[in-house]
Parts: sequence; structure tokens; C-alpha cells
Amino acid sequence: MKTKHIPVRTCVACRSTDEKRDLMRIVRQPDGSVCHDARGKISGRGAYLCAKNECIALAKKRKQLERALKATALPETLFEELTRFVEATTDSQPKA
Ligand SMILES: [Zn+2]
Repeated sequence: MKTKHIPVRTCVACRSTDEKRDLMRIVRQPDGSVCHDARGKISGRGAYLCAKNECIALAKKRKQLERALKATALPETLFEELTRFVEATTDSQPKA
């Protein structure tokens, strides 16, 4: 018997869940480094964040990614990368 398992992903900042691909995956790799997993291929402990600037800012301010990943302070470059990713993906979408 096969059971289809749909993982529910929760944004660490706003706590909303989404099964779709609107969430960015942030991964802490076995060596302790943390990166944005844009393709969903990197193994490691993952945390999810909405592809929204508000959620990036909130997670950064409250250190929610650090907490979710049990990581130490995340590099500024990671947040810059996420912000760039959001800008790139929201480019074609109308403003809500
Ligand atoms: Zn969110």
C-alpha cells in the first residue's frame, strides 16, 4: 500500500503553511554552513520561509532561522541572497 505523504511546510517567520513551492528552503548542511536551497536538492536540516521580503525581515529580526536550524548567527549574505531570490521571483507577478 502506498500512502502519499504531502509534507506541510511552515514558514518560520509568519507560521503560515504552504504545500506549494512558494516557500524557500534554507538548509543547514552537515558541516554547519547554512545556505538557500533553491532546487530542493541539498540534504540537511531544513527550514522554510515565504518568498516575501516581510518574512525574510521578520525571520532575520527574530533570529527564527537560526532557531529553526539550531545554527549560530547566519551571514548577512544569506539574507541578501534570499532577498535577491524574492525580487527575481516576484518580478513577473502583479502586486497584491
Ligand atoms: Zn512567511
